[in-house]
Amino acid sequence: MCRLARLLGRLVSRPSAAPAAPVPTILRRGSTVLSGADLTRSFGSGGTRSYALKGVSVQLKQGELNLLMGPSGSGKSTLLAVLSGLLRPDGGAVGALGRDVWRMSEDEMERFRLRHCSYIFQGYNLFPALTAREQLEIVLKWGEGCPTREARKRADHVLGQLGMTNKAHLRPAQLSGGEKQRVAIGRALVKNPTFVFADEPTSALDWDNGQQVIRLLSENAKQRGAMVLVVTHDPRLMPHADRVFELDDGQLTHESTPAKPPARTHSLAHDHTPFPPPHKRGQGPRVHLQIPQPARS
Ligand code: ADP
Ligand code: MG
Repeated sequence: MCRLARLLGRLVSRPSAAPAAPVPTILRRGSTVLSGADLTRSFGSGGTRSYALKGVSVQLKQGELNLLMGPSGSGKSTLLAVLSGLLRPDGGAVGALGRDVWRMSEDEMERFRLRHCSYIFQGYNLFPALTAREQLEIVLKWGEGCPTREARKRADHVLGQLGMTNKAHLRPAQLSGGEKQRVAIGRALVKNPTFVFADEPTSALDWDNGQQVIRLLSENAKQRGAMVLVVTHDPRLMPHADRVFELDDGQLTHESTPAKPPARTHSLAHDHTPFPPPHKRGQGPRVHLQIPQPARS
């Protein structure tokens, strides 16, 4: 348990008492909340330098599910990392909620990520020693100072909406891949993020689980007004997207608005309250527990 506490201490630093980055409190659905302008990013140096992003400009809107697609090595993960505040670009700018992200101080950036961003990766990054319920609870307890009873209530509500109530007491080793990814999604969404960044969240899942995951992310965009950006090379996700961006060799080559998704035949959610439940006012600072990943896919 001591080791776990030390690990958590490294991953979860409570924000300092300094005020959080100012953000607009009212956003109109469909307004641009995240943008990249002329982004460049290279790796290596001298003769071995290669450019993963070669001047990418993109605008992402509130309440939309965006797919970032393209062949392997085209720069998708690099672009997601640059837009999400995990990887500094060589050139260009990222604007989020009216702030220039890469001009923030490290402290401001940390607070911005904690308050606004959630990350979902292919590898789940769940804590092996914690149950599904505890994976969500800990985000609220450590990040927001949420009392135990309240954290449990919110964690259970989100797990219920993910169809995971009867697995809430299980640890990652006792869950299937699809279940683990649902817990990872619950952990990302329980803090009600403004931005959800997901890199290949369905690539290790079968068709059904993949569809469920993308539906959950889509619902989060629609019902809560989150901006969701998903890197994928699975065209079967396209019908769920509001916008699809295609990247090739570090450049954006195409942007499209796919056909609307087919009518849903079933829901993971047994109740239909917004997903996840809205925050109460006056709660403490928030945190994300996700482990930043290198840009390489
Ligand atoms: P994708 O996600 O589309 O597969 P990436 O963004 O991971 O592509 O990579 C784009 C290019 O940048 C690739 O050529 C890749 O090898 C290179 N790259 C990405 N991350 C690193 C890194 N950490 N070090 C060196 N090269 C990298
Ligand atoms: Mg990748």
